[in-house]
Amino acid sequence: MKSLIAEIPLSKIKFVLLDMDGTLLDKYFDDYFWEHLVPEKYAEKHGITFGKAKEELLKKYKHHEGTLNWTDIDFWSRELNLDIPALKEQIRHMIEVHPHVEDFLKMLRKEKKKVFLVTNAHYKVLDLKFKKTAIGKYFDDTITSCEMGYPKEMPEFWHKAERRLGFDKKKTLFVDDTEDVLRTAKEYGIKYIIHKAKASSKVKPKLSKEFEHIFDFKELM
Ligand SMILES: [Mg+2]
Repeated sequence: MKSLIAEIPLSKIKFVLLDMDGTLLDKYFDDYFWEHLVPEKYAEKHGITFGKAKEELLKKYKHHEGTLNWTDIDFWSRELNLDIPALKEQIRHMIEVHPHVEDFLKMLRKEKKKVFLVTNAHYKVLDLKFKKTAIGKYFDDTITSCEMGYPKEMPEFWHKAERRLGFDKKKTLFVDDTEDVLRTAKEYGIKYIIHKAKASSKVKPKLSKEFEHIFDFKELM
């Protein structure tokens, strides 16, 4: 298979939409949180083994994947009877920005692009991550799926996002590490789409068969 390496004409792009988790920030934080810390606390709470807890949780995660519930940490607090925001706070030191992200964001500012953060993350998580990192200041605006009422996997999200942010989809670049999200954005008509193949510093990147990809933002500079 020919690998799809992103060749994007930045001069034709006016608007840049960026996903947060896995794209700008290391997804290791989220993976560790849902696959390790939550099962550990869930096992303690229910007096079951870590393995059993993980098995039960994976079923629950799967069931809500791609929905608004999945993105809603208050939903998960209720569903699992655990204080999810407090647990995230506990490991905030693990939140990391991917290499060259800040340089890329600085370049976009310099080139006078309109830069938007477009995330499925809950506003409480967004808040935590903006406090821990220095990326918040680079965005003209930020929208969450919570606020739009739909996850990015659904076309309704994009209709509302366009109305709210006022981007021109023919002059827009969108980068995300989730292929289902990229597919919806592409069908909606976002012209330049890039898959961020290296989402976590600890997991081998999976290459998309459909979309051009980057491993690192230095490839777009
Ligand atoms: Mg992501």
